Amino acid sequence: MSRAAITLSTLSLCLAIFGEGALAKSRVLLPPAQYDRPAVNVTVIELPASQVHAKCVALGAPAYIRVPGDSTIEGCSVAFDRLIVVPTPSSVGWEKYACIWRHEVAHINGWAHDHPGGRHSREC
Ligand SMILES: [Zn+2]
Repeated sequence: MSRAAITLSTLSLCLAIFGEGALAKSRVLLPPAQYDRPAVNVTVIELPASQVHAKCVALGAPAYIRVPGDSTIEGCSVAFDRLIVVPTPSSVGWEKYACIWRHEVAHINGWAHDHPGGRHSREC
């Protein structure tokens, strides 16, 4: 499961991506360009999509950011610990994986949790 022993902090935890309804394809908010870049020294936990929500909750994800009708967490980050939790590509497909990755890494790069400047695009 996790790739390293990690001391986790609930500080800077971000619920990242939300579905928009049980039947709708979830959409991933992309960051502004200044945060949409690679990051170094990031611990990545990849889990089957069905396990991501529970892991993010276990990390201390607050429960207040939820889309009505679909409270599933698809990825999260703990910027203080430079940790992201993402679903495996095989469980969501490479396109969605890349979108979730970009979103979470952007938080490591300083993108605030209320997603200022976030944008939807066709790709995500
Ligand atoms: Zn986010």
